[in-house]
Amino acid sequence: ILEKSYFIKVIENLAEVIEQQKDYLTKLDSEIGDGDHGVNLSIGFREVMRNLAEWKEKNITFFFKKVGMALLSKVGGAAGPLYGGFFMKFGEPAENKEEVNFEVFYNMFKVAIESVEMRGKAVIGEKTMVDALRPGLDAFTKAIEENIEPKKAFEMFVEASKKGAESTIPLIAKKGRAMRLGERAIGHLDPGAASSVLILETFMNNLP
Ligand code: ADP
Ligand code: MG
Ligand code: MG
Repeated sequence: ILEKSYFIKVIENLAEVIEQQKDYLTKLDSEIGDGDHGVNLSIGFREVMRNLAEWKEKNITFFFKKVGMALLSKVGGAAGPLYGGFFMKFGEPAENKEEVNFEVFYNMFKVAIESVEMRGKAVIGEKTMVDALRPGLDAFTKAIEENIEPKKAFEMFVEASKKGAESTIPLIAKKGRAMRLGERAIGHLDPGAASSVLILETFMNNLP
């Protein structure tokens, strides 16, 4: 069972992680994009932190709807609507409750990641955050089907997403700003794939 307090802790920690990794993400984005990915996310999570005290009084679904809406309205760029949609959807399987079991927790990631794929229309191999999220989710699904214990299953989720993010390095981009670079995008890690790994790692590191 994961309680609301876990999710609040994840978001608070994620805001810190984004601050710590802001320059790193921006550096990645300056290599194949416009150098704002870390800054964009930092603006979004600062807005989230400004409102957190108010939102954390509400249920998990409401909480994440607000987090997502804040990111959607503040982050801007390509990542804003994608991560905004991710978090807006993320809370829905929790059905206005204050705690969730592991099956619901899995469904939260499933609907959130599917929402990124639907909005961005990217598939694996196009050098985007989907290269981290989709292989991660597939590994998580498989781990659950094999009855691997929850914490271990989540570790496999994160491991697969890391591998997926690294797989973007040799790719040419087929979506987003890096598309314009053609072969010059080769040799660089996708910033969105990197930030997706940070998000998933933060969920993992705060698991009870
Ligand atoms: P922008 O490129 O508009 O400045 P960001 O720098 O915040 O936006 O985010 C760039 C990241 O967004 C990319 O590294 C990539 O992972 C992700 N991205 C861009 N387009 C898409 C898409 N269609 N689907 C999924 N992810 C995408
Ligand atoms: Mg950018
Ligand atoms: Mg931009």
